[in-house]
Amino acid sequence: MLRRHCPCALCKDEWTGESLLDPGAVPETLGATRADVVGNYALSFSFSDGHGTGIYTFEMLRKLCHCKDCEHHPGSETN
Ligand SMILES: [Zn+2]
Ligand SMILES: [Zn+2]
Repeated sequence: MLRRHCPCALCKDEWTGESLLDPGAVPETLGATRADVVGNYALSFSFSDGHGTGIYTFEMLRKLCHCKDCEHHPGSETN
């Protein structure tokens, strides 16, 4: 899911925000191999397909997540 929403310039058109990535090209078995904190605003994931240039801001991760916790705190960055 995170890989499909990768916000880097290779996967997403910078200007239109359109995804350049074919969701079908991302196997279900693909996973994140590591996660690094970027500053105090984002996480950077490395994936098992070798891709790892996307920066996921906390705000973006909140929006991507549909769990109860996140829906109760829309846009919130509290943890
Ligand atoms: Zn990407
Ligand atoms: Zn959540």
